[in-house]
Amino acid sequence: MIDKIDTETLEGWLDNVRSFADAGRVADYIPALSERDPHELAAAIYYLDGDYYQAGESDCCFTLQSISKVISLALALIDNGEEYVFNRVGMEPTGDPFHSIYRLEQHRPSKPLNPMINAGALAVSDMIHGHTTEEKVGRLLSFLHELTDDQSIKVNEGVAASEFETAYLNRSLLYYLKQHGVINGDVEDTLKVYTHQCSIDVNVQSLAKIGAVFANEGRDLKSGRQIIPKHLAKICKTFMVTCGMYDASGSFAIKVGVPAKSGVSGGVMASINGFGGIAVYGPSLDEKGNSVVGFKLLEILSNRYDLSIF
Ligand code: GLN
Repeated sequence: MIDKIDTETLEGWLDNVRSFADAGRVADYIPALSERDPHELAAAIYYLDGDYYQAGESDCCFTLQSISKVISLALALIDNGEEYVFNRVGMEPTGDPFHSIYRLEQHRPSKPLNPMINAGALAVSDMIHGHTTEEKVGRLLSFLHELTDDQSIKVNEGVAASEFETAYLNRSLLYYLKQHGVINGDVEDTLKVYTHQCSIDVNVQSLAKIGAVFANEGRDLKSGRQIIPKHLAKICKTFMVTCGMYDASGSFAIKVGVPAKSGVSGGVMASINGFGGIAVYGPSLDEKGNSVVGFKLLEILSNRYDLSIF
């Protein structure tokens, strides 16, 4: 029997971590993200039996950013199969910042080390089936609607435009990948798909639900329908453990010990087999790009409720 973390208890834990936001900074390399209040804070838990609790400013919308990398990977694996995807993108953690170009130069033939860093995620976006960028983004949105059972989830066009205009580093990664035959599509088109997937607006409720579906071996919580094949959900969760928190994935595995993926908007999604999904939102980031309060809250919950998978 799990000792459930209800809304009141969760509010209490949020109060404990609120002040940690002062130790970080809101991402400003994407202009639209810099406008957020660093002290916004929300969390949600979706248990596998459908019980759901939320606390803090749970109506806050924030963009998926890098959390979208897990979702696009799941869709690209469904579309193309493991062999195709992993012929183009590797399975190893890097220890480098998420937008680093450094390792691309070191491997011949060139292959991004994993799908959770930008180079790998850009290659994955290129693999999503669809004749046009609109069709690819539309398929990704439909997939999210299925995962969350929320048809209202859509792209925040303001954030997408802001990132697209200023994505010089991601453009360079894409030109490099194009030169080396890792991506088939056009550079600007692939960037458009990627920036749109990163700019999908969610709240902690939808994010916790996605985490719970991954924890439920890819099955819808209510109907039991298999949305993501079990073995593919397992691959995604394994990447969340080894690479989900960028170059802090090792310390996160030791201190928290659960599959999780963060994004520079300040969201973190955790997915714990036999438990469910946890989402935290706090836009103040540490130097690696992870939500400071997100990391801290998950650390506290993991220790208090014995959530580590190790
Ligand atoms: N859209 C962001 C980027 O490519 C996502 C990065 C992140 O969340 N780490 O820079």
